[in-house]
Amino acid sequence: MTHPENKVHNDLTKQIQQNLAGLKDCISAISRNAGRSNEDIKLIAVSKTQPVEAVRAALEIGHRDFGENTIQDALTKIPQTRNLPITWHFIGHLQSRKAKEIPGNFQWLHSLDNLSLAGKLDNACRQEGSGSLNILLQVNITQDPNKFGIEPGQLDHFMEQLLEQDFSYLIFRGLMTIGPYTDDEADQRRYFSGLRELRDQCRNRFGLTQFTELSMGMSNDYPAAIREGATMIRIGSAIFGERQ
Ligand SMILES: *Cc1c(COP(=O)(O)O)cnc(C)c1O
Repeated sequence: MTHPENKVHNDLTKQIQQNLAGLKDCISAISRNAGRSNEDIKLIAVSKTQPVEAVRAALEIGHRDFGENTIQDALTKIPQTRNLPITWHFIGHLQSRKAKEIPGNFQWLHSLDNLSLAGKLDNACRQEGSGSLNILLQVNITQDPNKFGIEPGQLDHFMEQLLEQDFSYLIFRGLMTIGPYTDDEADQRRYFSGLRELRDQCRNRFGLTQFTELSMGMSNDYPAAIREGATMIRIGSAIFGERQ
């Protein structure tokens, strides 16, 4: 006889695997309709607030990229998956004093929006000896006073200051944003296309050949993000269910 707790566990695993498979089908269909290949869109499974078993469920069916938004929550999972083939993405706001927790735990940080954090991250990479870190700059594309991120009009100046410093361990790979609070697709697309234009301008103006990524789109707005050129989408609840 199956122990009742094991049954709950198995049901959850199955549910996550079904959600993930269904989502991947949707991503493929939307990409195809947009004339894009789903291979150009990296799905980041946002496992914040979920237990490590949820990560294992996705991993079991071949998923590799996971996102976390706080160090505290991430460190309940990352040490337990050390030898597994996972790429961890830090997607939340990070206080500079926690920068030392990033190298060795995460391979990507999606939320750089101030110079002090850049300096701390570069130092932390040097001390940890874990190699370089992929960085996305977070842009507050909706200019929402309650959101973090660089204001669109400040991005050029921010990039200039960032590149002046010649950081050894930070690789600037592109931009990230959080879309508007709306279900109106036209509105979502307007902001997402704005981010794409900013990325193109930055890449050209500063001659950054690796500045190719656009991290945008969550459970409620990823179709719009894919249609506007997202290369990374960050999905939590559509895979793992609603958070508590
Ligand atoms: C939580 C979170 C997500 C995922 O949100 P869902 O609506 O659950 O898909 C994506 N990006 C960031 C920055 C988040 O904090």
